[in-house]
Parts: sequence; structure tokens; C-alpha cells
Amino acid sequence: MRHRIAVVGSGPGGLTFARVLHRHGHPVTVLERDPARDARPPGGTLDLHEGLGQLALDKAGLLPEFQKLSRPEGQAMRILDTAGTVLRDWRPRPDERANPEIDRGQLRDLLLGPLDVRWGRGVTQVTPGAEAADGVRVHFADGRHETFDLVVGADGAWSRVRPAVSPVTPHYTGITVVETSLDDVDTRRPDLARLIGDGSVAVYGPNRSLVAQRNSGGHVKVYARFRAPLDWHAHVDLTDAEAVRSSLLALFDGWAAPVLDLLRHGTAFAHRPLHVLPVGHTWTHAPGVTLLGDAAHLMPPLGVGANLAMLDGAELAEAIATGPAPGPGNLDSVVRAFEERMWARAGKWAEITTAGLERLVSPDPAEALAQFEEVQPS
Ligand SMILES: Cc1cc2nc3c(=O)[nH]c(=O)nc-3n(C[C@H](O)[C@H](O)[C@H](O)COP(=O)(O)OP(=O)(O)OC[C@H]3O[C@@H](n4cnc5c(N)ncnc54)[C@H](O)[C@@H]3O)c2cc1C
Repeated sequence: MRHRIAVVGSGPGGLTFARVLHRHGHPVTVLERDPARDARPPGGTLDLHEGLGQLALDKAGLLPEFQKLSRPEGQAMRILDTAGTVLRDWRPRPDERANPEIDRGQLRDLLLGPLDVRWGRGVTQVTPGAEAADGVRVHFADGRHETFDLVVGADGAWSRVRPAVSPVTPHYTGITVVETSLDDVDTRRPDLARLIGDGSVAVYGPNRSLVAQRNSGGHVKVYARFRAPLDWHAHVDLTDAEAVRSSLLALFDGWAAPVLDLLRHGTAFAHRPLHVLPVGHTWTHAPGVTLLGDAAHLMPPLGVGANLAMLDGAELAEAIATGPAPGPGNLDSVVRAFEERMWARAGKWAEITTAGLERLVSPDPAEALAQFEEVQPS
């Protein structure tokens, strides 16, 4: 008899977990709140690191397909000052494969492959059975419930599985991101296409920055990052694109006109206050439930969150699939060992990204430049 395993969430972490189990012939139930695969835009591009996300894809047998889809040239990085002067213009060697970019939608489709996701299955809570042998009960928004031997919470920042193991909730970092995008930049705005280059351009000013990053097909995501209280938008209607645009232009007033064009020509604006879990978040192990990815270690978005979620998922799945046969306590010991390993790795990255965010959105923009020089691809 096989363990009955469910993963809540079909983000990069949950899907990698499911895909690696699937590769090993182990059944897994994927429960996702979204009603369908394309229910919402998948989001921007991700760079997958050699020792993290790419390692996870290797464990899923998907590295060759990733290499065909990914954009090594997307690793290019330009840094400008607020007057528009180019401070750094870094281009990868043609054979550079440390952190190639892939669109989130492409990554999701790659991971989904043959997986059978149960869409529209929003989980409200997870409760242990009366006895360990009873398993763990997953409760759904429609009032139904189902029982599993192991429930893996890969349901992101605002996890509904997390309360089963930890009372901790994310807190605001004091830094907010407003995201917008540009379409067909190469044909419609060749000037901005040149400004951005093949990968991304970043401009750092006091306590704020603007980053524009290429996705595939001439699509560009623009991120305005700034220090602000959580209610900075009290007098701005966030559903009114022109109102958000004007408040951002006021916030970045005095920056070079070509840089501000990234905001002037952006389409819709999405508001993303940055929340994190405490550095070194752990919990007392609870039989039958665990967390991975952002649900376990939400940290500042400095290019590793999805990578870590994927490696968590791949390692846990591999440990289950190649671990001891079902028997009392066997699954539990595998999960405990995984948690220790995940906590150690995530703690290290949470420290790096927390310090990194402080420097990237710093009163002294020279800190951001120094941060870029110091952080080496891993
Ligand atoms: C602006 C920005 C840029 C970023 N850039 C990068 C980058 O370049 N590289 C990188 O590695 N990381 C990046 N990150 C971080 C990365 O997006 C996250 O760390 C990553 O998506 C976490 O993956 P996950 O699978 O743990 O969770 P998520 O991606 O959040 O997926 C969670 C899934 O669970 C589902 N779900 C949620 N609640 C429920 C529920 N109750 N029931 C059922 N399903 C549920 C959600 O619908 C979702 O599908 C960035 C983040 C931001 C905000």
C-alpha cells in the first residue's frame, strides 16, 4: 500500500513536489484553489539557479526541456543612476547557464505535464485525526473534507496549512512593490527596448528603485520598489491606473525622462506590499503535515523564492519515493529529516535576502551597487 499524499498549492514548489513523485511512480493529489490553469496571469519571469531551481528540475527529469525554453541572454543586467547614466552593463557569455530566465507560465506548463491537478479546491484548514493512524483531514471551502497520510502545504505566503504547525504569520517589511508591464516593447518602444537591454535594467535612488525585466515575446515587467507605510495609498484609488501612475511619477520625480517612461507607458498596476516570515522560521514537527516554499519561509523577492520552493519540493518527493516502505513512523522520519534540511538552507537565504533588500532600497543608492557587485550567482 502507498502513502496517501496531498500537496496544497500548484505553484513552483507544489508542482515540483508532485512531478518528482510522479516520476517515481508515486501517486499524489494536487489541490489548487484557482478554478483553472489560466484563471489568472502567471506573473513575471524567474531566473532558475544552477544549484537550486535547475537542480530541482533535474530531479524531475525536466532539465533538457528547461534548457530549450529558457533565455540565457535574460541574465544580462544594466544599472543606471537616476540621471540615466549607465553605471554597469553586464552581459552573459553565450555559454553562461548559471541563472537563465523562464516565464512563470512556461515553467508552470513544463511542470504540469501529465499531472492531474484538482482545480477549484480551496483548502480552509488542515486538522490532525484523533490518532496518528487516522491521518490528517483537509477541509475545503465547499464544506467537504478528505483524509491523507501526509499533507504538504505549498500554498504560499498566506498558507491555510501553516496554522496546523505554526502560529506565525508574515509581517510587512516596510517596502512596497508596484508592478506594471509593457507589451511589444521591441516594436512599439525601441528606445525602451534599448534601455532595458536583453535582460533587465535597474535604477537605484534614495529609498526607491525601478527595475524593468524582459519576459519572452517582447513583454516587460516593471517593478517600482519604495519604502512606505502599509497605508501609503490611503488617498490613491488602486483600481485607477492613472491615479497610481501619477502617484508613482510624483514619488520618482526628478529621475531621467527615459527611466520614467517605464512608468508612463505601463499598462495596469498591481500593488504588492512585501511581507516576510521571520528569518529562521521553524516549528515543532507535527505528524502528517509539513510546509515548503513560501508557506514555510517567505522572504524578500530577491531571485531565490521560487528556486528554494522547487528544491524543497524535489527533495521531499525524492526522499519519500526512495525512502523506507510504508510502516509506522517511517513517513514521519523522512519528513522530519527534510524539515531540518529545508530550515537550514532557507535560514541562510532568508538572512541574505533580508540584508539584500535593505541595501537595494536604501537611503544610500551606492549600497545597491555594492550589493550587486558582492552577490555572486550560486
Ligand atoms: C515581484 C516578485 C518577483 C519575484 N521574482 C523571483 C525570481 O526571479 N526568482 C525566484 O526564485 N523567486 C522570485 N519571487 C518569489 C517567488 O515568486 C515565490 O517565492 C514562489 O512563487 C513561491 O513558490 P510556492 O510554490 O511556495 O508558492 P506560490 O507560488 O505562492 O504558489 C502557491 C499556490 O497555492 C495556491 N493556494 C493558495 N492558497 C490556497 C488554498 N487555501 N488552497 C489551495 N490552493 C491554494 C495558490 O493559488 C498558488 O497556486 C518573486 C516574487 C515576487 C513577488
